[in-house]
Amino acid sequence: MSKYLLAILLITSSMSGCFGDALSNDERRGTAGGLALACLQDDKFEKMEIHFLYENGYDPVAKELVKNRIQNVCNKPGGITINSVETDFSIDTVWSDDDVRDARWENGGDAMGSDTLHWYFLFPSGKYTDESVLGVAVDASTIAIFKDSVDEAEGLFGRPSNEEVERAVTVHEAGHLLGLVNLVYESPISHEDPNHPGHSNNEDSVMYWAIESNDVGNFISGSLPDEFDDDDKSDLEGMASGELKCSGQLWS
Ligand SMILES: [Zn+2]
Repeated sequence: MSKYLLAILLITSSMSGCFGDALSNDERRGTAGGLALACLQDDKFEKMEIHFLYENGYDPVAKELVKNRIQNVCNKPGGITINSVETDFSIDTVWSDDDVRDARWENGGDAMGSDTLHWYFLFPSGKYTDESVLGVAVDASTIAIFKDSVDEAEGLFGRPSNEEVERAVTVHEAGHLLGLVNLVYESPISHEDPNHPGHSNNEDSVMYWAIESNDVGNFISGSLPDEFDDDDKSDLEGMASGELKCSGQLWS
């Protein structure tokens, strides 16, 4: 890149912070749940592509599983495809929400391309600023799973195993992109944990609050759920049918 172009880019990016664009990056990228209807309905996006961007040695284990979970609740007559890309992230130590967003938008494309909805699942090396967090959903189309922390969350004697934890966390974060629980709608069913907003109070749901915490093995008895429960599914059906009103959607 020439020095001249770089200078212009620097000026433009600093200016946008002062004046505010008509549509700022934050608005365009939305928040978790902002593309829930884009997935649940087929009005605009008939197809979907899930992009897995992973650092060398951090291959995701739940690609097919999360695709199936999304396929079961979303209306994508043109199908859902998986795109795996080994990615050299510049950070391998500590990740903030902004770092995750920057890495996704630097390495990935638009979420809403023609008739295809694009979601990005990042698997970097390193940990989240809060080391007890295993996964985050940082905008309407972006999540990150911190495998270094997932590995440490493996329970005593490998129960649950790090693979089980990763499967659960990956589906859990996808659930946040679908708006669960009560992120962009109000459920008629009382299943949100008042002490952990945005999460289920049912430990048999993958949206249970402890799933994305490194104490997961201590909070759940028996096997880890990697599936939405009936209340989650009922919410998703209500959103898809229009029975439940959704707010904060990036398209209409
Ligand atoms: Zn969560």
